[in-house]
Amino acid sequence: MGADTNYRALRQELDELAVSCGREPSDIVLISVSKTVDVPAVEQAVLGGAHDFGENRPEELVKKSSALPGENWHFIGNIQSRRIADIVPHAVLIHSLFKESHIAKIDAAARACGKVQDVLVEVNVSGEESKGGVTPAEVPAFVARCNACANVRVCGLMTMAPAGDLDAAKATFEGLARLFTEVKGTLSATEAAVFSELSMGMSEDWHLAVPAGATMVRIGRAVFSDTFNMEQ
Ligand SMILES: *Cc1c(COP(=O)(O)O)cnc(C)c1O
Repeated sequence: MGADTNYRALRQELDELAVSCGREPSDIVLISVSKTVDVPAVEQAVLGGAHDFGENRPEELVKKSSALPGENWHFIGNIQSRRIADIVPHAVLIHSLFKESHIAKIDAAARACGKVQDVLVEVNVSGEESKGGVTPAEVPAFVARCNACANVRVCGLMTMAPAGDLDAAKATFEGLARLFTEVKGTLSATEAAVFSELSMGMSEDWHLAVPAGATMVRIGRAVFSDTFNMEQ
C-alpha cells in the first residue's frame, strides 16, 4: 500500500463520516502531514488526489513546496521568530500562531512578499502544560490583535487534543467548536466571513473531530505510514 491508496481510502472514509453527520464532504479538507516523508511520497499522495500538505519545520516546508509549488502547503509546527521570513512566502495557511510577538513579524513578512497571510490561532483547550496555544479566555483579544494587522487574516482556530485519550480528545474538539462560535459572534461582518476554519483531528482521533465540526483534519501516519495502518 502506498500513500495514493492510503489517501484514497481515508478520503472515502472521511466523506462517508461527513455525510453520516449531515455535513458536506467538500467542506472538510484532508491535510496530509508529510513531515516524516520526502518528495516522492508526497508525489504519490498527489496521485491519490491529495493537494493539501502539512509541514512542521520551515526547511522542509521550503524544500517540498519549492519542489511541488502547485500544491497547498500548510505550516502546522512550532514558529520561531527567526524563521518567520522563510515560512510566510511558502505557507497558504499557518495553523500554529499563538505568540503575541509573532503577529507583527508575520504581518511584516507578508507585506514584504506582497501577500495577506492567512492564519489560524492555536488554542490550548485542554490546558495541558506541555501544549502550546493561547488559553480560551485569551482568544478574542488575540484574534483582534491579528485582525488589526493589514497583512494578517484570521481564518479560524486550531487545536491539538491530548494523545491517547479519546474521551479527552472529544471534549477538546467540542470545546474548540463552542469557542469558535463565541468568538465569531464578536467579529465584524467582514472578519466573520473569513473566520470559518476549525483545524482539529489527527490519525488517531479525526473521526471524533468531524462530528464536532472540523473543517480541516491534519493526518500524517494514516496517509504515509504502512505500519500505522497495519496496526489499526
Ligand atoms: C504530526 C502532526 C499531525 C499528524 O499526526 P499523525 O498522528 O501522524 O496523524 C497533525 N498535527 C500536527 C500539529 C502535527 O505535528
